[in-house]
Amino acid sequence: MDLIHTAEKLAGRLGKEATIAFVPTMGNLHAGHLSLVKIAREKARCVVASVFVNRLQFEPGGDFDRYPRSLDNDCRMLEAAGCDVVFAPDERELYPEPQEILVTPPKSAEQLCGTFRPGHFAGVTTVVTKLFHIVRPQVAVFGMKDYQQLHVIRTLVRQLNFAIEIVGGPTLREADGLAMSSRNGYLSKEERAQAVQLSQCLARLKKAIEGGQKDHEALTRAAEESLRGAGWKVDYVALRNRATLAPPLPDDKELVVLGAAWLGRTRLIDNIEIAAP
Ligand code: AMP
Repeated sequence: MDLIHTAEKLAGRLGKEATIAFVPTMGNLHAGHLSLVKIAREKARCVVASVFVNRLQFEPGGDFDRYPRSLDNDCRMLEAAGCDVVFAPDERELYPEPQEILVTPPKSAEQLCGTFRPGHFAGVTTVVTKLFHIVRPQVAVFGMKDYQQLHVIRTLVRQLNFAIEIVGGPTLREADGLAMSSRNGYLSKEERAQAVQLSQCLARLKKAIEGGQKDHEALTRAAEESLRGAGWKVDYVALRNRATLAPPLPDDKELVVLGAAWLGRTRLIDNIEIAAP
């Protein structure tokens, strides 16, 4: 596996590759990231992963400075997972001058996490656009764990005519059901034990709707209240149409419930797809 830090060297390394599948990450990798590398492995001759903590997508007062960096270990994990090339630029490489041009995210980014993380999705669309231009993949793999991000990226690729197939990989979970995340490491022992409540709460909501309950508003409010009662600070629990990410119409069947909530200083997100009867 090659570890490359500059766009120029990357272009040299990838010039003769017929097909490239790309997995963008912010590092501090876990099995969820590696599952995306495995999917990428099936899709192209050459698998490229990027490791870059993108300052542009952190909201003011966010955790950019304390976000865990562990490139050596990330490289060991990526190599074992079958990655061919790691692209790990520093900030000056990706942002040699102030990034004045930002890619405006679609309307679907102005809700859910977009409400609570101002500028976040513009940071994501901008860095992903830059990385797509630098890596030039035919396929890019993103996790369904970040459901709204995946939706935004699909819209970006469609509306800006990137000739890139976007593949969504299922969410990998810890044994108790907590979605794997680089931020889980922030949790204290007590918080870690409690963290599973978020996925459990979404799973209960799924069961209720798949069991025929139709009062979505009451169900999502009750889910938020149950988390608050257990000591969480809730940003949202919301039901959406999977394809549009808009609030579902009465006859919509393919739904997803998304949640974001804080345990102490740690913000966790999760989602589960729902098939309404
Ligand atoms: P991040 O390093 O958090 O920016 O994540 C990089 C990629 O890994 C994104 O496409 C995420 O959606 C994906 N990802 C994060 N957590 C998981 C997980 N538990 N299972 C599958 N994919 C994940």
